Formats: sequence, C-alpha cells, structure tokens
Amino acid sequence: MSKQQGPSVSVVSTVALCGECAEPLSFDVSGSRFVCGNGQCAMLGMDLPVWRVLKRAGLAVPGVVGLPRPVYRGMPVPWIAPVAADGRVWFRALDGERLARAQSEWLCQLCGEALSDEAWVFATPEGLVLQAALHEGCKDIASGFCPHLSGPISRAVPRPVTCEEISADGRPLPVAGPSDPDFPQQWRIL
Ligand SMILES: [Zn+2]
Ligand SMILES: [Zn+2]
Repeated sequence: MSKQQGPSVSVVSTVALCGECAEPLSFDVSGSRFVCGNGQCAMLGMDLPVWRVLKRAGLAVPGVVGLPRPVYRGMPVPWIAPVAADGRVWFRALDGERLARAQSEWLCQLCGEALSDEAWVFATPEGLVLQAALHEGCKDIASGFCPHLSGPISRAVPRPVTCEEISADGRPLPVAGPSDPDFPQQWRIL
C-alpha cells in the first residue's frame, strides 16, 4: 500500500486542505479527484483520488454491505462509493480498495455481497465493462438511480455474464490475479 504515498492532505469536515499550502483543494472536472489549484503551490495540478484523501485524513468509513442500501440525497449509496465520516457520499468517485475487492473477489459493486456464477455488468457496445459486476436486483436498482451507467454518454447496457466471459486487463478473469486499488482492472466482455 506504499506504492503511491503522494503529498499529505488534511480534511476539515469534508473540505480537504492541501498539505503543502493549506488552501482548500478543489475537484477536477470529473468531480472524483481532489486537486490543488493554487498557482503558488508546489502541488499545483497534482490530483488525488477522493478515497485516498479521506483515508489519509482518517475520515474514510467502511462500506455498508447488503440491502437495502443506505440512502444519501435520495439515492442508494453503492458499496464502492467513497463515504466520509460526516456522511457525505461521493457518487462520482470510486473507492479503489472496495472496487479492487469487488473485482478480485467477484463481489457486487452495489451491495458488496458475494455474487453467484451468473451476474450482470453494464457494458458498452465495444464490450468495456463499467467497474465490476452486480446482482440482477442490484442492476435494476443501479439502472433506476445512476443515469451515467446506461445513459447516452457511456452507452452501456446491462448484460448477463459469468466470470469466464470477462477479461481483466487482457487476461481471463479467473486467472487475472488480484486487482490493484491504485490501478483497478479494466474489464471487457470476451
Ligand atoms: Zn497547494
Ligand atoms: Zn448486489
């Protein structure tokens, strides 16, 4: 876990402060990473995943496993979404450690529970899988609340799969080895 230590940061409530210049960090355009925008700062432009910032500040909370999902601002909270100690949820970010576990252990990315042989993924017409697999019922919950999963941007549609039908970074999933929290696997449908 020491591969990417990076600069230090601190978090006041859910406002993350740059460890170098102590100015508040802002979000990059994707809304999923913190970045220092202070032109005088040595960390200018260096971005940090939300989950790493929360973890380093001791404010990351474990994902809640199972159904029904916790609700934040009217939306079910996916197991792989970073959550801060004050309850704030980053829907557009991913918790690298939980995503890596979902990929390595064939867990549902929405509820965190084990999957059976038959599961579902959201995949683009080119076969790119969005993150990891889901239960059938969890796929329906995600479809209803996460427009980016199946909207016009990703063009992803739900597809039933088994782990034998997926490649992870170019290798068949059953022999791909563990996923890395800092560099999660990219899945494809074979
Ligand atoms: Zn800074
Ligand atoms: Zn599930």
